[in-house]
Amino acid sequence: MSDTLPQVILVGRPNVGKSTLFNRLIRSNRAITHDRPGVTRDRMEGIVRRKSLPDFGIVDTGGITLDAHAAVTDGPEGIRGFERDILAQAEAAMSEAAAIAFVVDGRDGLLPLDEHLAAHIRRKGLPTLCVVNKVDGMEREDEQMAEFHRLGFPMLPVSAEHGYNINALCEEIAALLPQGSASAPPPPALRLAMLGRPNAGKSSLINALAGEERMIVSDMAGTTRDSVDVRFTLDGRDYIFVDTAGVRRRTKITDSVEKFSVNAAIKSSTKAQVTLLLLDATEGVSQQDKRLMDMLDTRKTAFMVLINKCDLVPQRSLEQLKKNVVETLAFCKHVPILTVSALKRSGLHKILPLAEQIYEECQVRVPTGQLNRAMEEVLSRHQPPVVKRVRAKFFYLTQAETAPPTFVFFVSDAERVPESYARYLERALRRLFGISHAPMRLHLRSSHKKRVS
Ligand code: GDP
Repeated sequence: MSDTLPQVILVGRPNVGKSTLFNRLIRSNRAITHDRPGVTRDRMEGIVRRKSLPDFGIVDTGGITLDAHAAVTDGPEGIRGFERDILAQAEAAMSEAAAIAFVVDGRDGLLPLDEHLAAHIRRKGLPTLCVVNKVDGMEREDEQMAEFHRLGFPMLPVSAEHGYNINALCEEIAALLPQGSASAPPPPALRLAMLGRPNAGKSSLINALAGEERMIVSDMAGTTRDSVDVRFTLDGRDYIFVDTAGVRRRTKITDSVEKFSVNAAIKSSTKAQVTLLLLDATEGVSQQDKRLMDMLDTRKTAFMVLINKCDLVPQRSLEQLKKNVVETLAFCKHVPILTVSALKRSGLHKILPLAEQIYEECQVRVPTGQLNRAMEEVLSRHQPPVVKRVRAKFFYLTQAETAPPTFVFFVSDAERVPESYARYLERALRRLFGISHAPMRLHLRSSHKKRVS
């Protein structure tokens, strides 16, 4: 449940009172203790609920074990080992947090480890509150707070043990959290399809993008067993590679010229929002690749072409191959081409942002007023040619659909608009509405309606 709430993490060296504070904050809400492998093994999670405040999750890392550990860390060796542990735990938890409560001990004062942790926290750039604990009496409060000022965080004195300022703490933490994030649903995942002939490197690329450890392979209920989706998260955005079973199965086949089913590939791409067509730089553009590009274009699929295994071919051959691909794609110039190497991980960082861009361009919706101003401009730049002694009249322009953006020109006589002029119109609309890599449909409809002014 707490997974959907923004998480606040308690960071601080052992014995500053994090556990006591944690228990104060969650009150009766029982903590869930996670036994996670590795650095996050001592992780406590709970939910902070206060009237008139949005709920938020709270995470305490490195409690018991580290505190026990602290007893045997007298020597310089020990300190280093145990500092490293704390930092590793805090790092892992901070990467998932929305805000940080940095807990220090007002009685001990500022210690080197506090400064060390503060430096790490600052680097995270997350909203942070410095919680000065064990401030038990008002009379010494200012004195106790003084030296923590130089850490540069906003501060609040509290006493976890005596319950001093705990409500204020909840309020100040809640104020650090992004507005409305408690109830905001997670954004839907972007669905991607990876197509290409056997051995092009589809599995390698999916693994390189998704990262093995993040990958969850699941048989989707209610679908055929072949339908295996790979879901992963990167920079807070969810992605799904659809239908990867076919991709995987073929990795066993070493014969790279083995035919792959264009139909099956098209079927996968219909389940996705953006399709990635993978070519093998050592093999060039095959007949099947060409057929696939043709089909994808005909179906107005949003896709990009990736030339993989760039590490295996010299730069000059690569340029030549890229030229071939551009020529092959002459009928759909908007399709972007990237050169990558799944093995060397080069060029990979461009793939997902480009997929996002293509997806967003597919969603473009232009208001009618803007459309018709655009039409005026486009017509006045280059007027339609005279065909059989008559120049077609353009009445108005509407957008019928998105994904792909579909524009309809109402004209006096569609027959009199030559293909070349239609291509000019498409180029102009792409430029005006910033649709560079998404597919687009453009219809010319004969109409006797008068132009709307
Ligand atoms: P799939 O059939 O399309 O899924 O292809 P695989 O991902 O199984 O890759 C086929 C072979 O190509 C494997 O031996 C990979 O290690 C290799 N491979 C994949 N990507 C690259 C790359 O970028 N460079 C090189 N040199 N080899 C690659």
